[in-house]
Amino acid sequence: MTAAETLTGNERYVDELTRVDAVVVGAGFSGLRMLLALRELGLSAVILEAGTDVGGTWYWNRYPGARTDSEAWYYCYSFSKELQAEWDWPERFPTQDQVLGYLRHVADRFDLRREIVFGARVESAVYNEARARWGVKTEDGRRFQARYFISATGPLSQPYLPDFPGIKDFKGEVYATAMWPDEHISFEGKRVAVIGTGASAVQSVPIIAQTAAELTVFQRTPNYVLPARNHTLTTHHREAIKANYDEIWSAAERHFFGFAMELAGRTMDEVPPDDVERILEAGWETGGFRFVFETFDDIFTNIETNNVVSEFIRRKIRTIVNDPSTAELLCPKNHPLGSKRPPLGHFYYETYNRPNVKLVNVSAEPITRITGSGIEVEERHLGIGHREYEFDMIVFATGFDAVSGALMAMDIRGRDGRSLQDYWSDGPHTYLGLAVHGFPNFFVLCGPQVTTANIPVVVEHVVDYTAAAVRYAEERGPAVMEPRADVIGGWEDELVTSLNQTIIPHGKLANSWYFGSNMPGKAIAPLFWFGGAGSYFDLCEAEIGRGFTGFTVTDAPAAPDAAGMTRVEVGHD
Ligand code: NAP
Repeated sequence: MTAAETLTGNERYVDELTRVDAVVVGAGFSGLRMLLALRELGLSAVILEAGTDVGGTWYWNRYPGARTDSEAWYYCYSFSKELQAEWDWPERFPTQDQVLGYLRHVADRFDLRREIVFGARVESAVYNEARARWGVKTEDGRRFQARYFISATGPLSQPYLPDFPGIKDFKGEVYATAMWPDEHISFEGKRVAVIGTGASAVQSVPIIAQTAAELTVFQRTPNYVLPARNHTLTTHHREAIKANYDEIWSAAERHFFGFAMELAGRTMDEVPPDDVERILEAGWETGGFRFVFETFDDIFTNIETNNVVSEFIRRKIRTIVNDPSTAELLCPKNHPLGSKRPPLGHFYYETYNRPNVKLVNVSAEPITRITGSGIEVEERHLGIGHREYEFDMIVFATGFDAVSGALMAMDIRGRDGRSLQDYWSDGPHTYLGLAVHGFPNFFVLCGPQVTTANIPVVVEHVVDYTAAAVRYAEERGPAVMEPRADVIGGWEDELVTSLNQTIIPHGKLANSWYFGSNMPGKAIAPLFWFGGAGSYFDLCEAEIGRGFTGFTVTDAPAAPDAAGMTRVEVGHD
């Protein structure tokens, strides 16, 4: 390798303006995979990444206990048999640092860092119609021009912190699970508050409880927490995974949520009542999402089945948690299982049996402000005014401005200066979750209105579809592609239809990031296709098979390279 080939993107792209074929935003699962696909097309590309390393959500979410909720063998890429053969997963549910280690390995193995600029948060991306190019600017003043602008910002990358008054007054330590510092944080002997009981809190609470002097969890909506039942993988298990990757991936691609699991092959009404309990018990012992996917096939489509399973979980909570009033508070009662994303727990409910752990019900005692020494709540249910809890540390596990948030945080302007923020102010509008009318040659990976499913499986597909669109445009000129205005409404109707075939609308009382209702002021709209990963893949493949008839494809104007621009050469050694 020459010296130039070992440089990182930060060292290579130092000119005032860099011109490439494609700019990709984000070096997580989808951005890294997209960079490889663009390379295969013979295009030059750069990833602009806000963090100082690859990993995306696995770079930022370093909170204690962070690990996947998908089993290791299908929470990884499938595109390279060599990569599959050389990588060993140590546990059923890999930890954050194991997943980050994997993505770092991918970046090094495929020599991706030379095209990644780290510490480069994209501020704006503006389409120049005359030149058919996107002008992309980062917060630190770097400028890029590209024919394709591809967002790989991930569904859960824009943290949401409620705007509690007084947060700056707090004299103790404050952390957010979604922006956890890259250093050891000690809870030893401290009085710690965790706000939130979503998946991030459910993973961090049992770990924090082990060393904190006191841990107080502020819960607004209880969740259905399924036991993960993590375990290390033996050599035999690891070898079996490597020998069966083809079967694993074909199962994952067929599965509604992209998990390598087979259907149970039965609905609840086909089974005698005694067997229902036995099947649910077996699923509960198996753990993870196998509890919902390998027991009955109609848990997410039949509300009566769902009610039985939801009640089974409430019985489990009451059995595990010793204090009856705490157990009752932990029981979800206003939404069915699956209408909010159920977390996997690692002794989550058991943690409430520790003498140093307390649960505060935020629906009865809403947080009114953060004070210099803790959290003030309004004791609405008792009608006795305000009460203050004192803490040394507050941990926000309050989630994300999910799916559309990272896109809306950039000033993206399409044809005629049209702003994405304005266009999406009432909720996202896309075609197949892949592209946006009025925003030519702009593609979105794992953004709004894509299928909700295990992300790495979705990534492999949406990268393929985006690469197919880019190839199509390249072969025609290059050309400029964008979805036609008249296909957008039809896709939105399909999203609503897919949603109504599930039990999810029964949970409309619960705040869910699936719709944006977890955040005050955010437009409420379905942020996903809920019709299953396989049928989503079929729809996208049909669009490609038809020759992108849902898109307008026009010739790009021939624009000469502007003086002073750096031309990054196509091809890689
Ligand atoms: P989340 O599920 O949105 O949970 C946020 C929590 O903060 C909720 O309990 C919410 O209560 C609470 N909250 C928000 N505002 C509040 C306020 N003003 N007062 C009191 N409580 C408030 O966020 P998350 O836990 O970060 O998880 C988000 C998603 O990330 C998950 O659903 C999952 O898909 C993904 N994730 C995955 C993993 C994994 O795979 N292992 C781990 C972590 C996260 P309400 O419910 O009442 O809104």
